[in-house]
Parts: sequence; C-alpha cells; structure tokens
Amino acid sequence: MVYVFRLILLLVAIIFFSEESFAQIKIEAGDPPNNSDIPAFFKSKVSEIQNEIGNIRSGEVETTAVSPGGLPVYAVYYGEKEDLKSHANYNSAVAARNPAFYAQKDSISKPVVFFVGPVHGHEVEGMAGLINLIHIAETGKDYRGKDWSALKKKIEQCRTIIIPCGNPDGRKRCPYDSFIGLPTKIMTKYGQGTHKDGTSWGWPHAKSLHPMKGDVGILGAYFNDNGINIMQDEYFNPMAKETKAILEIARKEAPDLTVSLHSHENRPVVLQPAYLPLFMKERVYDLALRVNNRYKKNNLAHWPDNWFWSPEPDDKKFPPSKTFNLISALHHISGTMAFTFECSHGSVSENSPEPVVTYDNILDIQLLLYDEMFNYILEKRLLWQKSAPD
Ligand SMILES: [Zn+2]
Repeated sequence: MVYVFRLILLLVAIIFFSEESFAQIKIEAGDPPNNSDIPAFFKSKVSEIQNEIGNIRSGEVETTAVSPGGLPVYAVYYGEKEDLKSHANYNSAVAARNPAFYAQKDSISKPVVFFVGPVHGHEVEGMAGLINLIHIAETGKDYRGKDWSALKKKIEQCRTIIIPCGNPDGRKRCPYDSFIGLPTKIMTKYGQGTHKDGTSWGWPHAKSLHPMKGDVGILGAYFNDNGINIMQDEYFNPMAKETKAILEIARKEAPDLTVSLHSHENRPVVLQPAYLPLFMKERVYDLALRVNNRYKKNNLAHWPDNWFWSPEPDDKKFPPSKTFNLISALHHISGTMAFTFECSHGSVSENSPEPVVTYDNILDIQLLLYDEMFNYILEKRLLWQKSAPD
C-alpha cells in the first residue's frame, strides 16, 4: 500500500514538476551555448534526478522538503537505521560530558555517512557524482559501466544517506549542464546571478544581499526561488525549507561523516571547516590529505604536497573571514565530522586557460572522494559509549 502511494506521488511529481513546468533562465545572446558533448553518464538535470529516484529498488526514498519553486528535495537511505538510544539533544549531551547521551555509537553499530548534494544549483558535478553513487548502490556499477562493487560493499557496511540535489530550484534555473571549457565569468554570471543592469554579482559580493531580492536581473543558481543561499542561511531559524530538512536529517541520524558538495574553478579540495573543535578540524585535515593523495595516484587534478592548509583555530580578528555556515551548523546539531568539498567545474579564465578536468575526471573525482570517505569512517570512527566496553 505504501509503495502504491509512493508510486502515485512520484507520478504526480513527474507530471507536475517536469522540466518544462518552470521557467528556466535562457542563455543570453552573446553567451556561449550549453556544451553539446556532455556524456550520458553525466546526469545532473532535475528530470534525470527524478528518473534515478524512480529506479531505486533497494534504497528508501523520502521527499524531505518541497522547494519554493515546488520541486521535491529527495533523500535516499541505504541500510537500517540504528537505535541511537537518545536521551538528550547533542548540545545537552556534550554539556553532560558525553555525546553518547545523544547517540550511542558502539563497534557493532553501523557508521552513518551523509552526502548533502549541491545546495548551489549550478554546481552540477556533485549531482552527477551522487546519481552515479545511487546507481552503484543499486547495481555495483557507475553509468559508464565501470565496476565499483568494493564501494557498493562499503555503502552496505554503513547507513548511507544521499540527498542528490539540495537546491532543485537553482538547478532548474541553471541553463548550463556543465562548465567544462566555458569561461569562469559565465559560470559566475549564472551561478551567482546579475544586477538589474546586467553586471554580475560575483563572489563573494553575491552574499551581501540576502535573501537575494530586489536588484536582481538573473537570479543566480546559488539561490532557491526565494533568493536563499542554503550555505549561509539563518541556522537558528532557517529561512529555507531545504536547510531545515538537511539539518533535521543530521539531528535524527547523528551522521559520523557529512559532506556538502560544491564546485569551483580550481583543483578539487576538501576545505577546512570553520567553528568546529580543533580535534575535528584535524580529522578533516587527515581525510583531506588522503583524498588529495588518491587523486595524485590516479593522475587527477590535485594539490602539491607543499601546499595544503593546516588545522587552525578560528579568526582572532574582526571582521572574521570565516562564518558559521551550513557545515558548522551540521556539526553543532549532531557532532558530525562535516566538511565542504570543492570539485572542479573545468571552467577557464586567464589564470587557468585549459580545463583541469574532463567529464570522466569529474566522475572519478567524485567517486574516489566517496570511496575515501567510507574508508576513513570504517577505519577511524569515533565511538560514543555511555560506559567503557567490556
Ligand atoms: Zn558552492
């Protein structure tokens, strides 16, 4: 009965939320066309996400929120939810000197890994990665036909939660399905949007008006249809339902590890999180080096050994350059090891005249990140127990 109901909901969603129902921003005259060489495995469109959701057999699908534009925000769950034996919220449990009062994590329970798909709608690389991850969870293969059965096994050793796209409104409005070889300024024009006079808001100026309403020509894919940037929401009283849904999953599930997927012009990198305890920043640093090494071994874009951030306390001066953003909020609501991953768009500029990635590279960058995340948490999980194990 539940399945029939879910099927009806899905059909209704496909009919009403099909690609044509909402106005997509058109590429303006003079701007380059969408890439015509996008391979079939590089799936990131709202319709492609919906198709993938419709094909799920072993995972559980939940519509966690409906965006202001009327689009469903899906979460997909693999593996049974453990009984966390929760007596308190995370904040109170830590105040009682033991996070186990919030969530008990012993060696026989499964680690929880949470993938927060792009909340910036033009950062399509993470969506393509997560659609392939769902396909791997279902079939053991990615959409190129490449075998990832070892990764499938790791997914099964954990409770794995996947939000393939955190901002379907932004994705829907984005007229480009890839930025490989396109100018970075085109990516920022449609990503962060434009003023009424047509000039780009750019980064970080696009954060100076929030919600992004009023002086808006093109509403950037950064934002949902209400002009909210989920990465810089009001976490004590979120403006976006998408933000609320993401935080609620963290609160209920107590993920051991959480990634928020993003993209930029540069080489791929795990960023240092802000306003997390130093021991947690050190863990993220450890993972960041492992991921970078994995890229190096696989001849993918990576950073030299002598350039890498090192864990440090937060800003000592005002105004601070770091903010309490979605990553910080995810940690403080659940204790999760949360971080931002920046993939490469493959866009080009004077600084970077050649794309640093191909479509294949992007998918490998995504899947190797996920694989390293599972390796890390299966090897170095923090156990939270009310008493010492016997
Ligand atoms: Zn982003």
